[in-house]
Amino acid sequence: MIDPAARIHIPAQSGAALVLKQGQSMRVIDVEGEQVSDLLCFAQDDTQEVLSAGHTTDYNEKLFLSTGDVLYSNRSNPMLTIQHDDVGRHPLLYAPCSQAMFEHSYGAKEPHPNCHDNLLEGLAQYGITSSQISIPLNIFMNVTISEAGHINIKPPRSKVRDYIELRAEMDLIVAITACSAGACNNFHCTPIDVEIFEEA
Ligand SMILES: [Zn+2]
Repeated sequence: MIDPAARIHIPAQSGAALVLKQGQSMRVIDVEGEQVSDLLCFAQDDTQEVLSAGHTTDYNEKLFLSTGDVLYSNRSNPMLTIQHDDVGRHPLLYAPCSQAMFEHSYGAKEPHPNCHDNLLEGLAQYGITSSQISIPLNIFMNVTISEAGHINIKPPRSKVRDYIELRAEMDLIVAITACSAGACNNFHCTPIDVEIFEEA
């Protein structure tokens, strides 16, 4: 068992940002189970290059990602490769939850913690702005798609300490959350742990 080079604890309904160098890996751990985590990444040397759900869907020819799949940028460059996955199925479908989403979908009147703001809070130090927040990898999110194309959010399949591990294919700025929404976390928001491993 190799000790991680760094550990980051993300409390419930919050987020963090970090630099992941090419060859390093990050393990995203569902501490208590049934917790979604949104992950968005940018090229460290040019933050106009960002994770692209469209390119990733196209090149992997699938809507749900797992071990061996590669996450691509808006310039068709590999950004991350999934090296290990306890759950087997992670979409890149949904925009991060946001204040606007809570107002639109749930009629929220008060400020609600949300992934958009939690991603941005960590990314602002790198000069990234709100308009650059695009579709993240919805780690541990469990959605079903009907033949007619309707999507339904179900409780996550992840159990206590299940994890996904991703290797950086370029130097990256990565932002990651413990999602703040009710429905996709089986109505109980809990923490996410991240461990960083050096190049093997
Ligand atoms: Zn969220």
